[in-house]
Amino acid sequence: MSVSLARYFLHLGVSSKTASTRTRSYGFLLLTPKTARRTTAAIHTDKPQKPSREELLVVVGGGAAGVYGAIRAKNVAPNLNVLVIEKGKLLSKVKVSGGGRCNVTNGHCADNLVLADHYPRGYKELRGSFFNMHGPVDTMSWFVDHGVELKTEDDGRVFPVTDSSSSVIDCLISEAKCKGVSLHTGKVVTCASASASGKFLLKVEKRSLNFVELVEADYVLIASGSSQQGHSLAVQLGHSIVDPVPSLFTFKIEDSQLTELTGVTFSKVIVKLKLENVQRNIPQLTQVGPMLVTHWGLSGPAILRLSAWGARHLYSSGYKGKLIVDFVPDLHIGDLKSMLSQQKNRFAKQKVLNSCPTELRLVKRFWKYILDREGLVGDTLWASVSNNSLISIAHILKHCTFEVKGKGQFKDEFVTAGGIPLSEIHLNTMESKIQPNLFFAGEVLNVDGVTGGFNFQNAWSGGYIAGSSIGRLAGNANLEGAM
Ligand SMILES: Cc1cc2nc3c(=O)[nH]c(=O)nc-3n(C[C@H](O)[C@H](O)[C@H](O)COP(=O)(O)OP(=O)(O)OC[C@H]3O[C@@H](n4cnc5c(N)ncnc54)[C@H](O)[C@@H]3O)c2cc1C
Repeated sequence: MSVSLARYFLHLGVSSKTASTRTRSYGFLLLTPKTARRTTAAIHTDKPQKPSREELLVVVGGGAAGVYGAIRAKNVAPNLNVLVIEKGKLLSKVKVSGGGRCNVTNGHCADNLVLADHYPRGYKELRGSFFNMHGPVDTMSWFVDHGVELKTEDDGRVFPVTDSSSSVIDCLISEAKCKGVSLHTGKVVTCASASASGKFLLKVEKRSLNFVELVEADYVLIASGSSQQGHSLAVQLGHSIVDPVPSLFTFKIEDSQLTELTGVTFSKVIVKLKLENVQRNIPQLTQVGPMLVTHWGLSGPAILRLSAWGARHLYSSGYKGKLIVDFVPDLHIGDLKSMLSQQKNRFAKQKVLNSCPTELRLVKRFWKYILDREGLVGDTLWASVSNNSLISIAHILKHCTFEVKGKGQFKDEFVTAGGIPLSEIHLNTMESKIQPNLFFAGEVLNVDGVTGGFNFQNAWSGGYIAGSSIGRLAGNANLEGAM
């Protein structure tokens, strides 16, 4: 802990008994910045005394949104004391993100309206000022300016050229330290309240040591991701929570023959999700893109996008539904039927399994799967395939139906839909509409994006806007204090 910030903490006990006893009366034991200044004055005799009153921002959560927001606040208001409290390790999700490479943002969405459409929760609200204030281009510039070289892949995903998330983590931590942000790990903010004077009182616990600390803060930024503890703090401060449900997951399909195709990829399919509890046609429940067969079902960008747009409906249907896949989306069914007829005529004496129409560009294993679904043995000669069978094969390729039986775990990316409703936040400042000087950023909000760097972009944008707003408020307070 830096010397100058140690004064904001009051250690209330070292045994669980003591801690819990003292906690009840913590209001009396509070060490305020004002009284603390006197206790630490001697330490700073070689430094000029600051003329203004000192203010404290506490950031709950040392993830992407919290650390980025903390750096920004300190940049705008260098005299503001900024304390990040993280219960685990700093930036732990950044570490594992993008398969360890960290897909920082997306470089293919120059238009903010197009960008906003990548957020199943937030697409309406984020069309406004949000990305104008700090969008993907600003994020990329920020990292490049701070020494992280980036590259944009063909699909728009942006990664550090090192292909290592450590580059992003090292940059953020060193910038935070360099700016004077105080980073505390292994501590949980467990309670929050606001006093009539507008200050916040936060209870901070270090469970392993049964330690309880109290902090009085002028500003609070809750950037606690999808954690329940973060939601609970928001509720204590007067906010409501949209129930959290998972987003970005694979579909579990029980089909032993499909399992044999594990690892087969399709560069472009159209997938359509039909759920019993959804009668109306929701355009986003149809997606186009790559798909992958996994050992227990279907995955890939098209499926993950479906899971995100259908997250709430899927949750309420118990993750059961029908998935209809068009494996040859660029071919009209009529053309497909003619193609199969021509194949029959040209290769009449060949076995169906060995002569799949090359235009379809299907791997043999998958062609066998289609023939099996039609009940055709691979040794059958094309000449013996009935016209009805040809029509049926065309239908299977265009409307292949799978029963979704559940939700899988996708290891590369996983986010939570739900959190603090955007209607309770001023999106141009990220300040609460309910509690002044309280701010939110990142996944704690009811915002989540599809895969491709959109979730981090929400964290960077929200953190930056919140940090800027807090910095401005603190800067003004400083000026007033100096007058
Ligand atoms: C495996 C995986 C891979 C991913 N890959 C990508 C990717 O490549 N690109 C992309 O855009 N998105 C990716 N995501 C999503 C992305 O990681 C999140 O959307 C993003 O991390 C959200 O940032 P955040 O700062 O809001 O929350 P988090 O990163 O979750 O940070 C919140 C922090 O707050 C701490 N915290 C919570 N409550 C408290 C409390 N009460 N007191 C103290 N600390 C607390 C938590 O420990 C946590 O460290 C991935 C997610 C996963 C799980």
